[in-house]
Order: sequence, then C-alpha cells, then structure tokens
Amino acid sequence: EKRYIRPGEPGCLLNFHTKYDNFIGNQWVPPVKGNYFDNVSPVDGKVFCQCARSTAEDVEIAIEDAYRGWQHWKKTPAQERAKVLYQIAQVIEDNKEKLAVAEVWDNGKPIREALFEDIPDAAAHFRYFAGAIATQEGFLSEINEELVAYHFYEPLGVVGLIIPWNYPILMASWKLAPAIAAGNCAILKPAEQTPASIMVLMELLVDVIPPGVINILNGYGPEVGKPLALHPKIRKVAFTGETTTGQEIMRYVAHNIIPVTLELGGKSPNIFFEDIMDQEDGLLEKAIEGALMFLLNQGEVCTCPSRALVQESILERFLEKMQRTLNKIRHGDPLNTSTIIGAQVSLDQVERIKKYVDIGKSEGAKCIKISNCHNDSPYQQDPCILLGKNSMRVFQEEIFGPVLCICTFKDEEEAVQIANDSAYGLAAGVWTRNTNRGYRISRQLEAGRVWLNCYNEFPAHSAFGGYKKSGFGRECHKIALEHYQQVKNIIVSYKEKAL
Ligand code: NAD
Repeated sequence: EKRYIRPGEPGCLLNFHTKYDNFIGNQWVPPVKGNYFDNVSPVDGKVFCQCARSTAEDVEIAIEDAYRGWQHWKKTPAQERAKVLYQIAQVIEDNKEKLAVAEVWDNGKPIREALFEDIPDAAAHFRYFAGAIATQEGFLSEINEELVAYHFYEPLGVVGLIIPWNYPILMASWKLAPAIAAGNCAILKPAEQTPASIMVLMELLVDVIPPGVINILNGYGPEVGKPLALHPKIRKVAFTGETTTGQEIMRYVAHNIIPVTLELGGKSPNIFFEDIMDQEDGLLEKAIEGALMFLLNQGEVCTCPSRALVQESILERFLEKMQRTLNKIRHGDPLNTSTIIGAQVSLDQVERIKKYVDIGKSEGAKCIKISNCHNDSPYQQDPCILLGKNSMRVFQEEIFGPVLCICTFKDEEEAVQIANDSAYGLAAGVWTRNTNRGYRISRQLEAGRVWLNCYNEFPAHSAFGGYKKSGFGRECHKIALEHYQQVKNIIVSYKEKAL
C-alpha cells in the first residue's frame, strides 16, 4: 500500500499550473477571447487550475497551425512517423507515476487503475500503432498484362477528436495514435470536466512531436467542439461520448460530408450460466470478479457490465458470494493504492446516479444493501445492486455509476433475448465452462465486443466499437488506421500503342 502525495503538497511528483492555455503548434496559446474556466478536482472538491475556454476563433488558429504542420507530416515517411509514436510511448512510460497522479486528480479514479491500466495502456496504443503504420502496405491489382491498378493509403488532413472525461489520457491515445500514425494532424478537444491531465502530457511531449501534429483546445462542447466538428477544413471527426451528443455530431459532419466514427454509450449485459458453480477450479471466483467489474472506474466506463443476467438456479448462491467479496472492497482516497473505488467525476454525476437509484426503487427493483464502505466525500457514491426486470428504466438507460442491475434467465434462448433487448450494443460478457455454448451465445449477441470468461480487457490489437446506438467504427487494432485514411487508386496503362 502506498499513498501518493497530493498535487501541491511538498514532495508531490506533480504540481499543476494555475492556468493552462491551449496547445497549438507546440506553443501555449491563450484563448482569443481571453476566457478560462475553473477545473475542480473530485478528490478534494476544490478548484486546482483554470483552462482555456476556447471558441470558434481558437479553432481557426488551430486549424491553420495544424495544416502548416501537415505540409511536413504528410510527407514524413511511415517509418519516421512510427519513430515519433515510439518516442511518445516511451515518454508516457517514463512518466507513468506523474501522469497517473495527474489523471487521478483530474478525474477522481483510483490510482491503482491509472497506474496499472490507463497509463500503460496509453503507451501500448502508441507502440502498437507505430508498428501498424510501419508495416502497412498499399496493394496493386493486375487488371491485364498492360493495365495495373495501384492503391495507396493516404492521410485525410487535419482531423477533429472529441473525447469524454472518464479516461482522459487513454481516450486521447486511442484516437491520437492511429490519427497521427496515418499521417494526419490532430486537434483534440478534451472534456471540460477533465481538461488538465492531457496538458501535463503535452508538456512532456513538446520536444518529441513535430509542431502542429497534435493540438489541444480546451473548452465546452457547444462553444468549441461544435465549431471544430463543423469546420469545412476538418477532414474527419472521431467522437467518444454520449449517444445524444453523437447524434449532434453526425448532423455537424453531414454539412461537410466527412467521415465520422462514434464510440457512444452502453448498457452491457454480463451473462452468468449455472455451470460456473460447484467446481474448485477458480472460474467462479473469476466470474465474481467479472461481475464486480461494474465498480471499475466507479462505473464510469462505457463498457460497464451494468446488467448482470444470472441463471435462475444459481441466483442466491451467486449473490451471496458476490456480497462476501464486495464487503472487502475499499472505498476511499483515490491516491491510495489500496483504494478500489475512488470519487465520481463531478457532483452532477453523483446526482445522476442517485436519481437513477431512486427511479429503480420506484419501479419496484429490490435494492440490495451491500456496502460497508465508509466515505465522507460528497463525490463518493456507495455501490448499489438493484434486482429487477430488464424492462425497467435502470436496465435500459446508461447510469454511468457503480450501480449493478441484476435479473435472471431460464435458458440460453432467454439469456440472448434479454441481452439483446437494449438500444445499445457496445459490449457483453459470457461466463460458462461450456466453450461451445460460450461461442454460440457470443455470436448471437448484438455487441461489438464479447468477453468470454473475462471482462474489460482492452488490448491495443483488438478491435473495439459498438453495434446499434453504441456507435460505429472501430478503435484499437490496425483496422482503426483505415478510419483515418483514404485510398488513392491510380490506374496505369503500360500499353505501348493505341489500338
Ligand atoms: P458527452 O457526450 O457529454 O461529452 C463528450 C465530449 O463531447 C466532451 O468533450 C464534450 O465537451 C463534447 N461535446 C458535448 N456537446 C457537444 C457538442 N454539441 N458539440 C461538440 N462536442 C460536444 O459525454 P461525457 O459525459 O463526457 O462522457 C460519458 C459518455 O461517454 C457515456 O455515455 C459513455 O458511455 C461514453 N463513452 C463511450 C466510450 C466508447 O468507447 N463507446 C468510451 C468512453 C465513454
């Protein structure tokens, strides 16, 4: 157990600046209108810095600088671009603890997650896409003896990346790594709730990235995200956030007919079959751990397994086992490595969670008291289990908090029917000893990712993205590169003479 020292206190790895300008063309550029907004840490509820409140005028400046950078970057050979990505990965890794503290202070997540998952995963993404671009090849088609069609992957230009607050550095990396690997320059807009940790990262990267390749504009969605997505010189928008915001983004990009990828909300089912019980091989413990993944990042995870579908015959035993494990879970100071549940990102988020718990109770869901957690911060929300039916609002709407909705099923058919009875289709989990059944069910689930006997694994080389209202397009895996590229086809005739 280790308790990291708070930013600002003597001996801390990191002191935030009191004010952050935008990061454009490797310079710190004040917002044109001169406005800043307060950034509060959910760890202590206090303002710890101000960040630029950017507007359309700042978008103009960033686009100009990004295109200036692009003139060079688009001609930089893939092997050279790969080198830059490897260097970014190294800087992230070398500054792992500092970045983890920054992330915790900005977002409220427990440091064990930032330290052992978010930050190493961010480095892994840059490394993976360095390798992917270094090995990507165009292709040619031999039409006949004299006619050849060449295909080249080309970058798009300057792309707009808009991200949420739940994994600020990791979400930025998921988008930045393929975008710049592919030869684009990027303008990233972080969420207004977590604008600072990315600026700490930029300070570390300033000597590593060529000017204009990565630009960061902070501010509010409608004030800066919208003009960014609507700008006629932006060649693609990649967005992660709520489904309703995703709908707006689709409208914006329609103006300029540019590609968009959307990673949106979820209400992921985690399905537990009775055959996981009664053997001493560790699968049951693993499954309980999988069920408790609803606590990861305080439930503020798009793939949060927020619906547990438990086979009727094992419900009681399963609940009992889960409760026993839950009681050992520590809720507390996010900077302590033994803390499992940290702080929710904002008081608004806490309000939203509480409201949903009340809605669940009023719909008749049985609330199972599980927590012996002690917490005295208004940013901390006790976990909660609601036993009910899939038709209830709490089973259908994304809560984005440590709330697990449990219902039962009789057989495979019913499990699939309940799992797919959702507007979302981001992810799902299946737990069974019978791998044939696991495969069969996985193929029937309407979800972009299914975890079989595991949950919330996010390797860089595994395609991630949604079905249905969870969005479209894939992140991670080398296929994501193609979302940031266009194909140039050149048909050449080698015929010596006319007919
Ligand atoms: P949000 O949609 O409120 O905000 C996301 C980003 O969009 C922020 O940067 C915000 O400032 C910006 N934005 C808001 N309105 C905008 C507008 N009109 N124009 C342009 N930009 C605008 O989402 P959030 O509350 O920050 O994040 C939580 C949501 O993100 C959840 O629904 C969660 O499921 C989703 N999420 C999805 C994934 C995934 O990969 N599918 C990953 C993480 C989070």
